[in-house]
Amino acid sequence: MTITRFAPSPTGYLHIGGARTALFSYLYAKGRGGKFLLRIEDTDRERSTQAAVDAIFEGMAWLGLAGDNAEPIYQTQRFGRYAEVVQQMLDEGTAYHCYASKEELDQLRAEQQARKEKPRYDGRWRPEDGKTLPAPPAGVKPVVRFRNPVEGQVVLKDLIKGDIVFDSVELDDLIIARSDGTPTYNFCVVVDDMDMGITHVIRGDDHVNNTPRQINILKALGVTPPAYAHVSMILGADGAKLSKRHGALGVTEYRAMGFMPEALLNYLVRLGWSHGDQELFTREEMMAKFDFDHVSPSPARFDMEKAYWVNHQYLKVTDPAIIAPEFDWHLRRLGVDPANGPALPAVIEQQRERCRTLVEMAEKSRFFYEELAGYNEKDAAKHLTAKAVPVLSALIEALSGTEWKPEALHLAVHGVAEKLGLKLGDVAQPIRVAVAGMAISPPIDQTLALLGRERGLARLAAAQR
Ligand code: GLU
Repeated sequence: MTITRFAPSPTGYLHIGGARTALFSYLYAKGRGGKFLLRIEDTDRERSTQAAVDAIFEGMAWLGLAGDNAEPIYQTQRFGRYAEVVQQMLDEGTAYHCYASKEELDQLRAEQQARKEKPRYDGRWRPEDGKTLPAPPAGVKPVVRFRNPVEGQVVLKDLIKGDIVFDSVELDDLIIARSDGTPTYNFCVVVDDMDMGITHVIRGDDHVNNTPRQINILKALGVTPPAYAHVSMILGADGAKLSKRHGALGVTEYRAMGFMPEALLNYLVRLGWSHGDQELFTREEMMAKFDFDHVSPSPARFDMEKAYWVNHQYLKVTDPAIIAPEFDWHLRRLGVDPANGPALPAVIEQQRERCRTLVEMAEKSRFFYEELAGYNEKDAAKHLTAKAVPVLSALIEALSGTEWKPEALHLAVHGVAEKLGLKLGDVAQPIRVAVAGMAISPPIDQTLALLGRERGLARLAAAQR
């Protein structure tokens, strides 16, 4: 079975780069009937916070990318297990104690630098056949180092980048446990990936250089390493490192900007992955079609306009009932009670052609749910003039006797225009400003129908100023 994981470090919110990595992991596993697991890499206690853990869960839940493990794995809860594996490696001779002091190692580094050599541990405590090690100095707590193979090469068969070859000798004898017994980052990842049965490690390519070390440790533990796919970075539209200005925001900020989670996922999946020239995918399609063959090894470029475009396409075609809960969230955020007006799906149906985001939709729809705070000044100056007063009276009269349904309202509004010898716009625009507070709204008959008879007529009356 394919088992992937997403392993964020809770040192900040879930940003879109992380979300894309999580999505790739999720799709790859789920598309193959496998499992997608979540692990919190919180061993850096100084930089990890509970607020960041919460923000990651919130972002993942909103995106619908919850892990298949009932309880996520926290590295800080696994120190006993790491210690056990360190001991196993010491017993098996694949790791050893190193008593070199910081001063000694600093001196070693200085000498190597003076000789223009790459700084590396010289193996002074590394056991070798026929080598006599010094007696451990009294009172010194040793670190534990991995006895890295010095011969041969490690070939990382990356599913995205192709083969990357590392010379073993370059990899150094990595410290796996510090002198206080705490395990180091690369070691925890290895033990976790092994224990969780991870078959495919999908992560950012900033980890490429960790991979040969992790592969060697796994081999030393007698485990077949998983497959690896290192996802390239996301750059800004201008090719510079992605910053807030480009859209390097937290996932929840995209929620606040009015994105639907599925639309954001759809945008993210296309950052680096393609399937012919198809742009819009359902989650099922993404799952069925996603593969690393079509993930580009070069950095992707973030394009905010395209993200909006995808969101708009999604809003236009998705069942309004699916959009409704998220729309509800946005209305409440504006302090609007969604129960105090028409059913949300009906409003969505009318608004989605002209709204790229749910923020826009909520702003343009709040007049259905709350009393008007006032009129848009420019629109009122243009459409609620003295000339509009008789138009509004005629409308009130005509609409009072009309069935309050779009077809009947449509006929009544047209009838008033005809009777007064006006163009439809000269009648419709005053109605819009009167009932919506602004000259933009869905078709006037639909707007009136959704608003309801009582509110509609009261607002037309109030606009006769
Ligand atoms: N915790 C790492 C990060 O947030 C990911 C490590 C991994 O996926 O192996 O960058």
